[in-house]
Amino acid sequence: MESPCLDLLNSEWHDYRGSGRSEDRLRQPAWLKDFVGRWGFGAAGRPGPDDIEALANLRALIRRMVDRLSHGRAPADRDLAALDRVLARGPEVVRLTKDADGYHQGSVPLRQDWDWVLARIAASFADLLTHGEPERVKVCENPDCGWVFYDESKNRTRRWCEDVCGNLMKVRRFRERRKAAPSPPPAGAPDEPGGGTA
Ligand SMILES: [Zn+2]
Repeated sequence: MESPCLDLLNSEWHDYRGSGRSEDRLRQPAWLKDFVGRWGFGAAGRPGPDDIEALANLRALIRRMVDRLSHGRAPADRDLAALDRVLARGPEVVRLTKDADGYHQGSVPLRQDWDWVLARIAASFADLLTHGEPERVKVCENPDCGWVFYDESKNRTRRWCEDVCGNLMKVRRFRERRKAAPSPPPAGAPDEPGGGTA
């Protein structure tokens, strides 16, 4: 599932291969331009430094909630209240229109500024919790990666953002087991402690 809030969260990028390299893509104009274009936020114009700070704060807020959700815990009440305040920054009104197909009712924003963008991103997260399943909001289990994704697998069993992270973790566990048991046990030797199924 694609969502502006997931995109914003993953703008904090870490090298999944464990080099320790990170990038804050929110600070990269090319990434930001792409983000704005992808989600139709262009009407808000170019973000100023304060807008980028506000995006970073919203990202930190949503990340705190996601970290709890991915451990099966509910977000903190004060974080939900903070999200509510961001939602309130982008007021909408209901409009009734009519065309050849009949009448339509829909919400339109009162303003299309950066407060509106923040509110739309916050609303996309609220959407995951209300129309989606909160248990499916997950953080990749590769500790070097931390990519946030919505698990759309049938049995909610996905643990990695991509297979490449799952394979890396398998290789790492294999190497750790090898390190724990440097020389192969002689034939017929009983299982040594620590070398079992960790
Ligand atoms: Zn990953």
